Amino acid sequence: TVGAVAMDCNGNLAYATSTGGIVNKMIGRVGDSPCIGAGGYADNNIGAISTTGHGESILKVNLARLTLFHIEQGKTAEEAAELALNYMKSKLKGLGGLILISKTGDWVAKWTSVSMPWAAAKDDKLQTGIDFGDTKIVDL
Ligand code: ASP
Repeated sequence: TVGAVAMDCNGNLAYATSTGGIVNKMIGRVGDSPCIGAGGYADNNIGAISTTGHGESILKVNLARLTLFHIEQGKTAEEAAELALNYMKSKLKGLGGLILISKTGDWVAKWTSVSMPWAAAKDDKLQTGIDFGDTKIVDL
């Protein structure tokens, strides 16, 4: 997956998700990435999110929208990401990851897969990482 989330100077939020799919996929398989609510979601009143990982699991739990639902319920970006990813893991044994920015600018990169390379930028500051822990939050 190549995914991105962004907030502009007026607070508008956007996401993009692209993928080559999974290895040995069936001909005609449509994964999660092009499906709004699974591979990503953006709403100026909540946040923007892009997801990666096992597409069938991501589709079944509607991972992107599920995570934003937790933010609507008052969770922080990190709490929401953890709740949604852990739900997918416990319900379906599905592993994945996500990047998320909330409307307040609270953001997180989080994953249950082995690793997830990520980068974050604000104004002229850039942070990158390929961490093998399961969360990365950086104060830019
Ligand atoms: N989510 C993608 C799929 O299942 C795979 C990926 O790029 O993470 O098609």
